[in-house]
Amino acid sequence: MEIISEIKAMKAYVRAIKEKGETICLVPTMGYLHEGHLDLMRMGRPLADHLVISIFVNPTQFGPNEDLDKYPRDMERDARLSESVGVECIFFPEASGMYPDGYATYVNVERISEGLCGASRPTHFRGVTTVVAKLFNIVEPDLAIFGEKDYQQLAVIMRMVDDLNMNVKVLGHPTVREKDGIAMSSRNSYLSAEERINALVLRKSLLHARGRVKKGEHGAAQIRKEVKDLISQTPGCAIDYVEIVDAVTLEPVDRIDGRAVMALAVKVGKTRLIDNITLEA
Ligand code: AMP
Repeated sequence: MEIISEIKAMKAYVRAIKEKGETICLVPTMGYLHEGHLDLMRMGRPLADHLVISIFVNPTQFGPNEDLDKYPRDMERDARLSESVGVECIFFPEASGMYPDGYATYVNVERISEGLCGASRPTHFRGVTTVVAKLFNIVEPDLAIFGEKDYQQLAVIMRMVDDLNMNVKVLGHPTVREKDGIAMSSRNSYLSAEERINALVLRKSLLHARGRVKKGEHGAAQIRKEVKDLISQTPGCAIDYVEIVDAVTLEPVDRIDGRAVMALAVKVGKTRLIDNITLEA
């Protein structure tokens, strides 16, 4: 397996593949890999001739008081794990290579990036779409895979690819969970044992919402209230948002008629966690 940090070298690697007429699948990550990341890679492995991942803790998607500096990193372990699932190349750029002095260009997807996480992290998706557009230009993947755990991110990237006529097919992968239901996340490593138990309320409350819809409750306000009550009764948990939105546009809905998604962000202690669930009437 190759680990390439220089953009020029990565482009040469890609050119050699393209000259043979072969295809590339890209799985972008910020590293500190867990089974969720590895499942995206396992999904991608048979779908293209070459499986490339990127590991880059992208500074432009972190706000000024967020966890950029303390974001967990372990390149040696990440390399071992990715090789074990058939990754051929890790693109591991440096921030100074991706954003050199004089850097001035950003990709901004309007509307769909403004609610949910975009409301409390106003520059987050601009950073995500900028770095993903750069990764697509450098790696030229035929296919790219993103997790549904970051539901809004997946929707924003699909919008960008459509709007900018990018030559890449974007696929989503279902959320991978620990046995007790918590969504796998590199940020789970911040949780104390007690916070880890409290964090179970995210999944529990989402399943409560799904159960209520199955039993015939279609009013979004009522379901949101019940979910908010469950979370606010849990020690150490502070709600950032609890929303029910249209699965495609991410606009809030009043009634669950078609396919909706309940998405939430909760601070458990100092750690902000997100999760979501589809709700179908
Ligand atoms: P991250 O390293 O957190 O930026 O995540 C890299 C990719 O893995 C993104 O497309 C995430 O949506 C995806 N991902 C992270 N955690 C999970 C999970 N538990 N299940 C499925 N995909 C995930």
